[in-house]
Amino acid sequence: MQSFYPPVRTLMGPGPSDVHPRVLSAMARPTIGHLDPAFVSMMDETKKALQYVFKTENELTMPVSAPGSAGMETCFANLVEPGDKVIVCINGVFGMRMKENVTRFGGNAVVVEDNWGDPVSATRLEDALKDNPDASIVAFVHAETSTGALSDAKTLCKVARKYNCITIVDAVTSLGGVELLVDEWEIDAIYSGSQKCLSAMPGISPISFGERAVAKLSKRKTPVTSWFLDLTLVMGYWGEGAKRSYHHTAPVNTLYGLHESLLMIREEGIENSWLRHQQNHQKLRDGLESMGIKFLVKAESRLPQLNTVIIPDGIDDADVRNRLLNEYNLEIGAGLGAYAGKVWRIGLMGYASRNENVTLCLSALNYVLRK
Ligand SMILES: *Cc1c(COP(=O)(O)O)cnc(C)c1O
Repeated sequence: MQSFYPPVRTLMGPGPSDVHPRVLSAMARPTIGHLDPAFVSMMDETKKALQYVFKTENELTMPVSAPGSAGMETCFANLVEPGDKVIVCINGVFGMRMKENVTRFGGNAVVVEDNWGDPVSATRLEDALKDNPDASIVAFVHAETSTGALSDAKTLCKVARKYNCITIVDAVTSLGGVELLVDEWEIDAIYSGSQKCLSAMPGISPISFGERAVAKLSKRKTPVTSWFLDLTLVMGYWGEGAKRSYHHTAPVNTLYGLHESLLMIREEGIENSWLRHQQNHQKLRDGLESMGIKFLVKAESRLPQLNTVIIPDGIDDADVRNRLLNEYNLEIGAGLGAYAGKVWRIGLMGYASRNENVTLCLSALNYVLRK
């Protein structure tokens, strides 16, 4: 056995994406106790910065000490009680996982399906709400990473609210990459991830709960079945002015990394971060289209940070991806489910969304495809 030195790659898949050197260097700083006053004030700043990127005043805004999937599970574990009827919009892999969460926590999932590659349809959601007046929650994915489709979260939340449902929104890939206004759009519960458009390492899930979600949580008749994810307990650790009693040992150095990545977004400005993702997407799109490569998703609902393109006829999917990795240290993503072998998913997320990556990807792909 010897020390592990990973190869230096350019990460342009569906995540993890390139981590900024400032984040990597922050993580190498000395570990301190997670109840140390210096750590506690760093965490208070982190919570404020999360409110900034989520565009919310929600007090219950914090990082869950685990990856995006745990943020998803936190929302469903706390908000779904046995017997609750939940409308789950599915237009890709992550919507399917939401349904799985509902079922596992004893909820009754009503599925609204859209084609993979299309955004979630507000009309279909409204029809389902009319048919199910006893539903109490609507869940959907804002940015479906499995297909590259962006859904209109603002409209979907408005429809849910009209039928008195609270919303659970997956913003793992959207946060930092496209416009997302938690308070203005009246999103009730939202979770994200550190490893996509925040330029940070994998392993942390920022979440935010608004008043209506907190009210549903505090009115629960049954305790939350997950001890680790039970927010009523975690709040004693993370909450404003909380006693900071021991709940679990925070991943101290990973949180230094999150703090640095959020500081960088504050310096850039969240709106500028959205704009950068859009501009780099346009450059990549122009280059790919000039090579004759077509997109899976219609222009109006394309994610700038996740470009799903159709593999040209006669091209071997795995061979191209292997050559990009071995000859250019460039990782792009494969297709999932029905799209396996049919599409590539090219990420331009966070620190990976920059000019030199666009150029590298276009020239490497051009070279490998011509060969
Ligand atoms: C990546 C992703 C997740 C899961 O995040 P992990 O950090 O891999 O657990 C959930 N939802 C969406 C839309 C994602 O892209």
